[in-house]
Amino acid sequence: MPCDNHRRLEIALQPAPKQDPAQRVKNWDEAFLGYELDTAVIEAERCIHCPTAPCQEACPVENDIPRALLLLEEGDLNAAANVFRETSTLPEMCGRLCPQESLCEGACVVGFAIRTADMGRQAPVAIGKLESFVSDQQRRTEGFPMPELAPPSDKKVAIVGSGPASLAVAEDLAKEGHSCTVFEAWPEPGGVLLYGIPNFKMRKEILDEKLAFLRNLGIEFVCNTRIGGDVTIDDLFRDGYHAVFIGTGAGVGGQMRIPGEELGEVYQATEFLVRGNLQPHQLPQDMREPLPIGKHVLVVGGGDTSMDCVRTAVRLGAESVTCMYRRTEHEQKGREEERRHAREEGVQFQYLTVPTRFLGDNGRVTAAECVRMRLGEPDDTGRRRPEPVPGSEFAVPADTVVLAIGYNADELMEETTPGLHTDKRSHLIRIQEDFSTSRKGVFAGGDNVNGADLVVTALADGRRAAEAIHGYLQTL
Ligand SMILES: Cc1cc2nc3c(=O)[nH]c(=O)nc-3n(C[C@H](O)[C@H](O)[C@H](O)COP(=O)(O)OP(=O)(O)OC[C@H]3O[C@@H](n4cnc5c(N)ncnc54)[C@H](O)[C@@H]3O)c2cc1C
Repeated sequence: MPCDNHRRLEIALQPAPKQDPAQRVKNWDEAFLGYELDTAVIEAERCIHCPTAPCQEACPVENDIPRALLLLEEGDLNAAANVFRETSTLPEMCGRLCPQESLCEGACVVGFAIRTADMGRQAPVAIGKLESFVSDQQRRTEGFPMPELAPPSDKKVAIVGSGPASLAVAEDLAKEGHSCTVFEAWPEPGGVLLYGIPNFKMRKEILDEKLAFLRNLGIEFVCNTRIGGDVTIDDLFRDGYHAVFIGTGAGVGGQMRIPGEELGEVYQATEFLVRGNLQPHQLPQDMREPLPIGKHVLVVGGGDTSMDCVRTAVRLGAESVTCMYRRTEHEQKGREEERRHAREEGVQFQYLTVPTRFLGDNGRVTAAECVRMRLGEPDDTGRRRPEPVPGSEFAVPADTVVLAIGYNADELMEETTPGLHTDKRSHLIRIQEDFSTSRKGVFAGGDNVNGADLVVTALADGRRAAEAIHGYLQTL
């Protein structure tokens, strides 16, 4: 155990190199270029290996971060990556996508230390960037490590949806020897990892490689298939599946319910992101037309999805891109890093403002009528409730509008699966502690249980659900 903490606390944060904003707005590559080995090792040396490891406790999958960083410091990248893989099935993705500042890095003791030089706070160890560094290096040099597989069981599991929760279920159950089939409504698997998160946050090759690895484990993917349509959960049992996992996410975009929302060039965030970021063959027929980007793009909403939309709009060539949010930056959910990236790329922010109506010409949006807001008493989320300021109405030009105001679960599963208990208001599926639902042999996890959340929480659910499903299959 290292005991030279004083020296470690003196080491300055090693910034991860990034593409210059002027350059990166002209391409779709990741903004972060990734560490070099020498800087990664120095950054790992900043970890003081606290015995209580609050970073590990704050991680939804409880990655043993201090052990991984010590191995990296010693130059054993492969072993370091394997430590992350013990608890996470997607370390290269979590390293890029987790809001580390509110998880591991938010709990990092180094981040609470006072620097002697300027008496300011130390930056926490860049755990996320180191996680993606070691797992990328391992994939590049060795590929994904092949796990030991249990002998084939005679049990078949149907997994509905192919986001991080489902991919984790499929991987863990395939390792136990069960036959897994993943059904996905979109043309390709990946869930929001493909149909949502843009390339500049995570390049798609990482997902492609993961899917190839999962196929090598024997997992079958059946796409363009919406369970609950022609095929129901009951049909899956009739077809001989012994258990079903529902990992359908929360993919229904929130609506504003204001006049003009039906106008042309007013998009839901997901449609805008997938048409902006993906190749036509990856999209359903009705979304394959190139996205006609306007001069003035207005994105409504303040979370991470809205940052993905504004940065996509910049790359699509919009002249002006504005993020409109009804509270202030202080209440804004999502990562500060993403807002910084958006600002660096020229995005404007209009806080305490909300559109009340979209105006159009010939069926296409041309402007948004807006009203200024002020913050009143806290609402049930604890955040101060925005209230309109009388007489503050004004209009802004907008020839593309993107609504990024949150996501909900859809109703299809509850409508087509008799006896499946859901929350009637939010359509979220109700589960027991072991991820089982009210239907025997049916388990659920991820955003369709928690509401719109994170890649890492979906993955954590998937792993725990897989353990429960494996236990259940052994009782049959
Ligand atoms: C634009 C965007 C950006 C995000 N950025 C981040 C980020 O940077 N970091 C982070 O941690 N989280 C981020 N999130 C949240 C994160 O992606 C989700 O919390 C996570 O993907 C949820 O995983 P899941 O497996 O529950 O479902 P999803 O990833 O939503 O996957 C569900 C899949 O099920 C499929 N499906 C739905 N119904 C059916 C059906 N009836 N039959 C068959 N298939 C079906 C859907 O098509 C979808 O592919 C983002 C979300 C969005 C929308």
